[in-house]
Amino acid sequence: MTYQHCFENGASCEHPTGKVVCVGRNYVDHIKELNNPVPTEPILFIKPATALQSFDEQIVIPPYSQNCHHETELAVLVGEKLYGADREAAENAIAGYGIGLDLTLRDIQQGLKEKGLPWEKAKAFDGSCPISPFLKPGQLPDPQDTVLKLTVNGEVRQEESTKLMMKGILDLMVYMSSFFSLMPGDIILTGTPAGVSQMKSGDQLELELDGRFKYAVSVK
Ligand code: ZN
Repeated sequence: MTYQHCFENGASCEHPTGKVVCVGRNYVDHIKELNNPVPTEPILFIKPATALQSFDEQIVIPPYSQNCHHETELAVLVGEKLYGADREAAENAIAGYGIGLDLTLRDIQQGLKEKGLPWEKAKAFDGSCPISPFLKPGQLPDPQDTVLKLTVNGEVRQEESTKLMMKGILDLMVYMSSFFSLMPGDIILTGTPAGVSQMKSGDQLELELDGRFKYAVSVK
């Protein structure tokens, strides 16, 4: 199935399917659970457009990993080109908000981290960014204080407000756009709160954004 951005009301989206710009370690409680140092600057990485898929498709764990983790994150759809943007330009460029998974092959990532190598094999594989339809900006009263929730087989694994981000949405966009252009159709993933854990074949996931928007997806 070819992925295409869409809106929560079923409206299609004119923006192309772009890259996914992600931040690592943006919630203190998640940094502590993996025993990572608190970074002085955001850690950025990019997933290609081929990472995106809708929640209508099952999650497929690549055969070369024994430990695929879910990371539940607020997603931002970029609607205008940003390069060297300030906060106002960043805010005006936001076309929508959604909830997505930054799927991470923790065993592969650990090996890469130990060797000081880039993380793409662990985080940028096809289907590594399942994502919801997007809400128009006005549909989410306060994106910087909205609850992200994930249950796996009915058990709550992640539940946290986006107010606990170390670097907020607009500051992240300003920071990212100081290194490379954010283009219409790109997505920003804003980091995961605590509670990341392993998914297994047959798991049933339910994601919830702002206590109102719910999406189900299963692991093949
Ligand atoms: Zn993440």
